[in-house]
Amino acid sequence: KAKEVGRNTYEFYEAELNQLAIRRHQLANELRQAVKNGELSLVFQPQLNIVENKVIGAEVLLRWHHPILGNISPAEFIPIAENTGLIKEIGNWVMDNACQKIAECRRLGYEIRLAVNLSALQFRQINLPEMIASTLQKYRIPPKLLEVEITESMLVRDVSQAIDILERLKEMQIRIAIDDFGTGYSSLSYLRRFPLDALKIDRTFIDELIVDVDDTAITLAIISMAKSLRLEVIAEGVETAEQQEFLAKNNCDDIQGYYFSRPLTYKDFVQFLASSKPIDNSYNRTAR
Ligand code: C2E
Ligand code: MG
Ligand code: MG
Ligand code: MG
Repeated sequence: KAKEVGRNTYEFYEAELNQLAIRRHQLANELRQAVKNGELSLVFQPQLNIVENKVIGAEVLLRWHHPILGNISPAEFIPIAENTGLIKEIGNWVMDNACQKIAECRRLGYEIRLAVNLSALQFRQINLPEMIASTLQKYRIPPKLLEVEITESMLVRDVSQAIDILERLKEMQIRIAIDDFGTGYSSLSYLRRFPLDALKIDRTFIDELIVDVDDTAITLAIISMAKSLRLEVIAEGVETAEQQEFLAKNNCDDIQGYYFSRPLTYKDFVQFLASSKPIDNSYNRTAR
C-alpha cells in the first residue's frame, strides 16, 4: 500500500515537473516575439519618504502580458530571459524606457528618481556603466535620478569585479541600492567594501512585522546597521498603516508597498504625482 502511494506521488511530481518544463520551454520560445510584439511594459511603484511625507520616486517593474496566458510574473520570466540570453536586450529596453520616463517627468515638473532592477547577468557585463552613461546622455538626465537595484548574491559571486562596476557607477553619481536585503549573506564589514547608498529590507520581514518577534528584530537590526553605515533604508512590501507607523517610529527612511500604492501604469503614476504634490514648473520655465 505504502509503495503504491509513493509511486503515485512520484508520478504526480514527474507530471508536474513535465508541465513546468513544457511551460518554461514555451515561454522561452515566445519571449523573443513578445519583445518584438510590444507585449512587455513597465509599471511604476511609488516610494514615500516617511519623514518628509513626500514621494521620492518609484521602482520600475517589468510586466509581460501574454496574449493567451495573460500576465506572467517577472519572477518567472526574468530567469528565462537570463537562460536564453534575451536579458541583455530586455535589460537595455527597460533602462532606455526608464530614463525616457525620468526625462518626461522632469518636463512635467516632477524631479523624481526611478529605481531599475538589474539582473545578475546584466550586472556582470563589464561595459554596463558605459551603457548606462550613454542612455543618461541620450535623455539628458542627471544621474542622481537613476538608482540601480542589485541583490546581495550578485556581490558575492565576483567581489573584485562587483567593486569595480559599482565604483564606476558611483563615480557617475548613480545611486546603488541592495534589493531583498536580509535574504542573502552579507556581513557588516563586507558591505563596507561596496559604495552603496541604500538597503531595501526584503518584504518577507515586513510581512509579519510587529506580529513576529524574529522578523521585527531583524527589521530593527537592518535599520540600525544601515544607519551605522550611513546608508538609507527603505522597507518594501508595506501593506498596513501599522507597519508604516512602526517603521516611521523606528527610523526607517522610506517605504514602498501596497499601503502607499500598487505599481501603476505610467499614466496613473503621473496622476499620482499630480495629486500628491503641487507642480513645480521651474524646470519648464528655464527650459523655454
Ligand atoms: P523586487 O525587485 O523585490 O520587486 C518587488 C516586488 O514586490 C514586485 O513584484 C512588487 O509588485 C511586489 N510588491 C510591492 N509591494 C508589495 C506589497 O505591499 N505586497 C506584496 N505582496 N508585494 C508587493 P513583481 O513586480 O512581480 O516583481 C518580482 C521580481 O521580479 C522583482 O522583485 C525583481 O526581482 C524582478 N523584476 C521586476 N522587474 C524587473 C526588471 O525590469 N528587471 C529585472 N532584472 N528584474 C525585474
Ligand atoms: Mg527591486
Ligand atoms: Mg525586493
Ligand atoms: Mg527580488
